[in-house]
Amino acid sequence: MDIINIIEKKSNKKQLNKDEILYFVNGYCDGTIPDYQISALLMAIKINGMTDKETFLLTDAMLHSGKILDFKDVGFCTDKHSTGGISDTTTIALAPICAAAGINMFKLSGRSLGFTGGTIDKLEAFDGFKTDISLDTAKNLMKKNKVCIMSANWNIAPADKKIYALRDVTGTVESIPLIASSIMSKKLASGADAIVLDIKYGNGAFMKTKKDALALAKLMVKIGEYAGKKMDYVLNDMNEPLGYCIGNKLEAYEAIEVLSGKKGKLYDTIINLAGKCISLALNISPKEAVEKAVEAVESGKALSKLKQLIKEQGGSLKLFKGLGLKPKYIVTSPTAGILTKIDCPKLGFITGRLGAMRQSINDTVDNNVGIKTFHKLGSNISCGDVLFEIYAKDKESAKSVVDELLGCYTII
Ligand code: URA
Ligand code: CA
Repeated sequence: MDIINIIEKKSNKKQLNKDEILYFVNGYCDGTIPDYQISALLMAIKINGMTDKETFLLTDAMLHSGKILDFKDVGFCTDKHSTGGISDTTTIALAPICAAAGINMFKLSGRSLGFTGGTIDKLEAFDGFKTDISLDTAKNLMKKNKVCIMSANWNIAPADKKIYALRDVTGTVESIPLIASSIMSKKLASGADAIVLDIKYGNGAFMKTKKDALALAKLMVKIGEYAGKKMDYVLNDMNEPLGYCIGNKLEAYEAIEVLSGKKGKLYDTIINLAGKCISLALNISPKEAVEKAVEAVESGKALSKLKQLIKEQGGSLKLFKGLGLKPKYIVTSPTAGILTKIDCPKLGFITGRLGAMRQSINDTVDNNVGIKTFHKLGSNISCGDVLFEIYAKDKESAKSVVDELLGCYTII
């Protein structure tokens, strides 16, 4: 086998076979094939695409490059994966809703990076919460509470990790087969029997259009079903923040508010996703599953479940008593009109600069900073209406982002 032939084959729009795909994935992992050859191959894949069969094979090769978890001794497990967004605190509310409705939810989550937040950082806003736990501890928590959320600290799909890092610096992230195989290799290694995908589209998402999001969702569903999993998906708009808050403690608190019954787009999205998870896991109709999700919230069972999850993983319950933060600066609207556009990446980056997100993987985050918004797209805004509350280290750093924040909104 020769890597140059494989690159030429793909650049000539030919299909790669199983041995060729295994050869380049394993060769890149063990260091026998250098970055520059894999870069060339990734670019050929980005330009010429992959068939479904090639994408299944690539997923399988990356999936088998590391540890594969299994929760057979716990029972049927469900997982939810979101492709990332702004003010997306879905997991923190959804996992307890599902557990309260009687299904097992095990989630490996990530940290914030760039302009998007990460569930693990949001959970650490509950002081003392431990996300770095052993597999045995995770299984015991699952058996006891039906829910566990932890960081992906094991050797899950190391081939994807290495290839993704290379894609990041070679302009090859935006390829539907590469994204689908990357995400699914990690999901399939995490041991779930059913997976619900939350695929975002819009200016704050990987996929800019609904059409591309649908193509990605359908491909990921096929990969999962090919691997024997029960699959479903939801497409969600990311042209505006999902909830109202951006920043770890603010978002964790917003999840508590949703579980306490606060309605809105975040609540609707969470109930819809929870319904999909419950429907797959219990084999019941979507309508019945949504009723169970709503009941879990309205009975207070889901909120108790979140408290139990936080407590069992060592976190403080103080946040359930109140946010305990005051904004350092309040921004009001200098104009009147309709809010027609929100620059989501910019909002995320500004929050990141306040200290809420990592600029590089080894940075630390400040859980107490963030931005609270008050309007959704289409809102009619009057001059002087509050647009943003800025939670920052001090008034100076809050004031330093005001002009840029105003630039995130188009009000006409
Ligand atoms: N997230 C991933 O894990 N992989 C991709 O390729 C894109 C988003
Ligand atoms: Ca308004």
